[in-house]
Amino acid sequence: PVVLGIESSCDETGVGIVSGGRLLAHAVASSMDEHARFGGVVPEIAARAHLHAFNPVVREALDRAGLRMRDVDAVAVTTGPGLSGALQVGLAGAKTLAYAAGVPLYGVHHLAGHVAADTLEHGPLPDPCMVLIVSGGHTSLLLVRDLVRDPILHLGDTVDDAAGECFDKVARVLGLPYPGGPAIDRAARAGNPCAVAFPRPLTGPRDDPYAFSFSGLKTAAARWAERHRQSGEEIPVADGAASLQEAVADVLTRKALAACRAYEVRTLVVVGGVAANSRVRALAEERCAAARVELRVPPLTLCTDNGAMIAAVGDLLVRAGARPAQLDLSIDPSAPLDRARLHPSPKPA
Ligand code: ATP
Ligand code: MG
Ligand code: FE
Repeated sequence: PVVLGIESSCDETGVGIVSGGRLLAHAVASSMDEHARFGGVVPEIAARAHLHAFNPVVREALDRAGLRMRDVDAVAVTTGPGLSGALQVGLAGAKTLAYAAGVPLYGVHHLAGHVAADTLEHGPLPDPCMVLIVSGGHTSLLLVRDLVRDPILHLGDTVDDAAGECFDKVARVLGLPYPGGPAIDRAARAGNPCAVAFPRPLTGPRDDPYAFSFSGLKTAAARWAERHRQSGEEIPVADGAASLQEAVADVLTRKALAACRAYEVRTLVVVGGVAANSRVRALAEERCAAARVELRVPPLTLCTDNGAMIAAVGDLLVRAGARPAQLDLSIDPSAPLDRARLHPSPKPA
C-alpha cells in the first residue's frame, strides 16, 4: 500500500509518501522565515502558512513520487502534540483528501513519527531499542519495542527546557540568527569546545540518571555573555557556541548510553531536530563505538519535522492491520508520549 503522510504540528508543512517501509518522495514548506523577526514560532502565522502551503506541498510530493492521488491507499496525519491551529489545518486537509479519495485515515503521534523517520533510511527498528528524542519541545529517553504494537517505556524527560529550546534561547543571547540550533552548530565550527566550562546538569551520582535539565545551561550562557558585555569586550561567540554544544552533547550521550547499559539494549536511536547537530552526532558515534552499541540517526532532512516520518508510521499501522480513524478524528495538542503507543485493533469483519 501507498501511504501519504501529513505533518503540520509546528512551522513545517510536510507531506511524505511511503510504501512498504520505503520513502518514495517528500516535500516540506517552512514558515520559519515569517517567525524570525519574532524570535520564535507565532501560532497564528504558522496556522495560516499551513493553509497556504497545504495544496502545493501535497502536489509537490505526489509529483516527485510520480504518483496521483488515486494511487494513494491511505492517508496519515499528525494529531499531536503541537500547536492547535497548526494541527487543525493539517487534519482538515488530511480528512478532505482521505474522504475524496475514499481511502482510510490514520492519526499519528508526532513523536512516533520522529522515531519512525529512522526506519526510512535504516530499515525496521530492532526490538528493543533505546530512543533519545531531542527536539524543540522534547528531550526524552524511551525504551521502544514494537513502535505500533507495544507500550513505550518512558524512562525520563527534561524537567524544564528541551535541548532544542536551550540552543534556540542561547543563540538569542549570543546574537545569532533564528532558528538557533543550526546557527550554534555553524558558529561552533570556529570555536573551542573547552573554552567555557559550562555545567553538566543532573549528572551527579544522586541525580535521576534519565532526567535532563537545560534551563540552568541557558542561564549560565547568559551570565557568561553578560560578563563579557559589561567588561566591554566582544563576546567570543564561536567559543561560547562550541562550549554550549559540547555540554549539551555530553549530557545527552552520557545519559543515553547509561540507559543502554542499564537496560542491556544494543541499539541507540537518536531522533528529532537536535539529532541534526554535528557534535551530538559525532559524540554519539564515538561513545556508541566504545560501548559496542549500534547507533542509528536519521539523515539530516528527516531529523527536523517532515511528512515522510508521519507516512512511515501510517505505513507501519496499515501493515499491522490497525483500525483506521473515523472522520471525527480530532487533534490532541498535548498528546502524552504514552499515547505514542498505538495499539492496532483488528480490522472489523
Ligand atoms: P517537537 O518535535 O518536540 O514537537 P519541534 O517539532 O519544534 O518540537 P523539531 O522540528 O524536531 O522540533 O526540531 C527543531 C529543533 O531542533 C529546534 O530547536 C532547532 O533549533 C533544533 N535544531 C535543528 N538543527 C539543529 C542543529 N544542527 N543543532 C542543534 N539544534 C538543531
Ligand atoms: Mg520546526
Ligand atoms: Fe518535531
